[in-house]
Amino acid sequence: MKPAPFEYVRAASLGEAAELLRRGDLDARLLAGGQSLGPMLNLRLAQPGLLVDITGVPELLAAERTADGVYLGACVTHANVEDGRVPDATGGILARIAGGIAYRAVRNRGTLGGSLAHGDPAGDWPCVLPTLGAVLQIDDGRSTRELPAGALLRAAFEPALAPGELIAGMRLPTLSPAARWGYYKHCRKPGELAEAMAAVLWDPERDILRVTLGALDDAPCALDDASTLFGRSGSRLSERFDPDAVDALLQSRGIDDPIARQMHRVVLRRAVERACA
Ligand SMILES: Cc1cc2nc3c(=O)[nH]c(=O)nc-3n(C[C@H](O)[C@H](O)[C@H](O)COP(=O)(O)OP(=O)(O)OC[C@H]3O[C@@H](n4cnc5c(N)ncnc54)[C@H](O)[C@@H]3O)c2cc1C
Repeated sequence: MKPAPFEYVRAASLGEAAELLRRGDLDARLLAGGQSLGPMLNLRLAQPGLLVDITGVPELLAAERTADGVYLGACVTHANVEDGRVPDATGGILARIAGGIAYRAVRNRGTLGGSLAHGDPAGDWPCVLPTLGAVLQIDDGRSTRELPAGALLRAAFEPALAPGELIAGMRLPTLSPAARWGYYKHCRKPGELAEAMAAVLWDPERDILRVTLGALDDAPCALDDASTLFGRSGSRLSERFDPDAVDALLQSRGIDDPIARQMHRVVLRRAVERACA
């Protein structure tokens, strides 16, 4: 199918993009990498009157070290992260995650901000960035507010962005040398979106134990303090992992199918084991 007709503007600045988004006469939509929006346009699931291309906005392409980590603009592509063309504060975690997203053709154009804003619960960044403690910069061209990445999605495909707001970028803190990371996603074949995914960040020095479960029917479940999932006795984190607590959490999120709960439990256990390896 072909998209419904639309106007196209390539925004030169963040302010211009936000102003176009606020225009009431046309249903305006941002276009970043187009890797999710493109198919939606072709299928006419989205029929905006105006596409605002933000890939040339300098503020959204920024990538720099900060005093306590890095700042990455929303239009940084998966491929630029994968290839190490932007600074990293995570000892290579970001590059490994980026390299596992879809296929290289998708990674060449798909962006961090587009992936977060699209809000697919099976997306890699919506699962990984909350776990790493990323804080988003949300901008409406006049003011900026900060939002923890784990608070972005109200529900699947529903970012908590007001009309005229866009994701400008994100701050990622430097991980301490003691931090342990585990990530696991279950896909039927490479390049497909995951059926279950989990990320674990454990930093005993900084008292951080974060877990995010993705590929749920709803928004990813991001726990800033995941200690309740590790209630058993044992010296290693993997020994303390409590599958019953995870099961209770999944049930509380409305996952009634016991096979789906088992899949999410196994995926989280594997992520925990990777964090302990
Ligand atoms: C075949 C295929 C396989 C895929 N597999 C995976 C996978 O394994 N893992 C994974 O994580 N993803 C996967 N994806 C999705 C891919 O990673 C996309 O890059 C991503 O979802 C969207 O990013 P984009 O930059 O292309 O955004 P676009 O498609 O341009 O935009 C997506 C949505 O976000 C909005 N938007 C874009 N930028 C912003 C912004 N800065 N602020 C606010 N709103 C914004 C747009 O208006 C639109 O609604 C796959 C896609 C395809 C086509």
